[in-house]
Amino acid sequence: MYLPRSIGLGIGFFAVAAALYPSHPPTWVWIAMIAHGYGWPHMAFLLARRSPQPYAAERRNLIYDSLGGGFWAGAMGISPLPTVTVLSMMAMNNIAAGGLRLFVLGSLAQIAGALAAYTLFLPALFPHVTQLQLFACLPMLVIYPMAIGLVCYRVAVQLSKSKKALEKLSTTDSLTGLMNHGAWKDRLALEFDKCQTLNRQYSVALIDIDHFKTINDTYGHITGDNVLKQLSNTLCASLRQTDLAGRYGGDEFCVILPDTTLAQATEILERLRRTVHDHAHSALPDLKLSLSIGVAAHGAHQTDAAQWLHEADMALYDAKSAGRNQVTPARPSTKVCAHEGAALG
Ligand code: GH3
Ligand code: MG
Repeated sequence: MYLPRSIGLGIGFFAVAAALYPSHPPTWVWIAMIAHGYGWPHMAFLLARRSPQPYAAERRNLIYDSLGGGFWAGAMGISPLPTVTVLSMMAMNNIAAGGLRLFVLGSLAQIAGALAAYTLFLPALFPHVTQLQLFACLPMLVIYPMAIGLVCYRVAVQLSKSKKALEKLSTTDSLTGLMNHGAWKDRLALEFDKCQTLNRQYSVALIDIDHFKTINDTYGHITGDNVLKQLSNTLCASLRQTDLAGRYGGDEFCVILPDTTLAQATEILERLRRTVHDHAHSALPDLKLSLSIGVAAHGAHQTDAAQWLHEADMALYDAKSAGRNQVTPARPSTKVCAHEGAALG
């Protein structure tokens, strides 16, 4: 609230001063007006900044604002134009910052402030509005709503950024930066529908590190984590921009390869397998990494994405059973029962 408070009280000072000036108020009233208009915004800012609960402190400050606004309205004898200008701008502020609850609390504070000042000064009620007062209220009427609009816009932009960041966090695997399990499976379901309706040739692959547990046990989990990160980098570097890689979980990765036949996908993944196998780790020359990969193409017989994925999973199982460190395409005869596929969803 620092910006709108500084602007609002800074220009509100003129509206109040123009209304009080004809009654020649004592010096302390002028000092109080200047302190409120030009000192209080900075003090309120510091109070909120230093508070362990800045939001609650700022809400308290808004009530003080309303009390102060009400006080000057009472001191002016509820002079119609400046009173409506000052109090309505504060009400707008309270609604924007704290909804109906803060509006009601602020209105009560305004009434309390007005009663206190009226009792103290006993001014003539509802004095005639002069042209000077009218002009003194204009900046407040024009500039203050713009300041509130700007603050609301900034909050909206900030919210939108936070929403995007949260969305990214909820779909990203924190260790590798790849799509996480849930996001990748959502994407697989979408791509499956695309294949069904547009009759496209897509393939899917499941990639599992061989004996990863031994790597963890031998070199420690931090090295294990680094291996997973490095593998995700190699994976991204070996794939096309259009391929969709994710971390399926643990030491298992998954890829959707759009517009790729089973033979093409097997070739691409064979290149990846060889790259990983031939890679020498300079810091850990004894570390040997190999991958088992199962690949399955989309087929007309598949009823859902789970069945497609299950075929890749079976192919991965075959790769492990056949001795690991190999790419195995799904068997053409593989047919999964409907209930088996559904159970995987
Ligand atoms: P296989 O060749 O049959 O795949 O053997 P494996 O040892 O790789 O298979 P298994 O599934 O038994 O082990 C996977 C291991 O991956 C077990 C688990 O401790 C480890 N793991 C899972 N997630 C992480 C992780 O985020 N970081 C690390 N460092 N290890 C992980
Ligand atoms: Mg493994």
